[in-house]
Amino acid sequence: MLQRYIHNTNSVQDSRPQDKRVAGFSDIEYVTETMIDLHTHSTHSDGTLSPDKLIDYACNQGLSAIALTDHDCISGNPIAKKQAEKRGIRFFPGVELEIESVQGSFHLLGLNIHKNDAVLAARLEEVQKKRKTRNREIIKKMQDAGIDVSIEDIASLAGGEVISRLHFALYLINRKKARSVKDAFLRFLSPGGTFFIPKEAMTLSEAVQMIHAAGGKAVIAHPFSLKMNFKNLCNFISGCKESGLDGIEAYHSEYGFTLCSRLEQFAADNGLIVTAGSDFHGEGIKNRKLGKTAGQTPIDDRFLDGLLS
Ligand SMILES: [Zn+2]
Ligand SMILES: [Zn+2]
Repeated sequence: MLQRYIHNTNSVQDSRPQDKRVAGFSDIEYVTETMIDLHTHSTHSDGTLSPDKLIDYACNQGLSAIALTDHDCISGNPIAKKQAEKRGIRFFPGVELEIESVQGSFHLLGLNIHKNDAVLAARLEEVQKKRKTRNREIIKKMQDAGIDVSIEDIASLAGGEVISRLHFALYLINRKKARSVKDAFLRFLSPGGTFFIPKEAMTLSEAVQMIHAAGGKAVIAHPFSLKMNFKNLCNFISGCKESGLDGIEAYHSEYGFTLCSRLEQFAADNGLIVTAGSDFHGEGIKNRKLGKTAGQTPIDDRFLDGLLS
């Protein structure tokens, strides 16, 4: 029943119930048996709940399964796993990796990385180290240009999030060195800009290999962040399949349901698995509710099929 509900976008979407109730199901039957989430973050990257609190929250929301997918970090997995065992919720260790990309932003989910992840852990430690060095190098360039700035200034703008070029851009705007984020990127932070330092990111093949070695599935997260039109995106994804890509996160909180359904169809036609996630970072972010995806639709456990195939 819920499966049809998910698939039948035209007739059901507009009459979608506003709460957790699905026609024909009581809340209890529904939430305990089907709702899951395969894209979430904890305080180990930029989420607001610690891994164990995230599991508690998922249980309280009635989820039956959850994956933790922190950015370039897997240290939260053992903590979440332990708590999941205690609370009786199915847990999938995961990660969200930043991948080299010439266009947009390319994030790759590693889902169900349940085997030996030592190689991945070591590589991620190296990535983190290189990013810290890069931030210091950008600060040095800014200071050399006469701007009074410290790493603490940028960290306070990031507010606990991983420091990115956006935070440097915001600082430049605050100091009246740039007019807008776009201006800051163009003149200072993009290739050719005064303060540009290349960022450490993995290649797709390297990331896929490590995810597979850890027993996981490699899935492109929120594919539209690649900033391609649908046709180009499909061609791009087909190319990624040759590098070992397993699937796509067709359903994500930020996208319209109909567009997501088109992605699911594309995946089905091309032998790719499909996952769905909220990209939950904690309460308070609009349209990012745990267990809900595109169009605030509850995430059905049918999305576990591909993951476990
Ligand atoms: Zn992402
Ligand atoms: Zn994410």
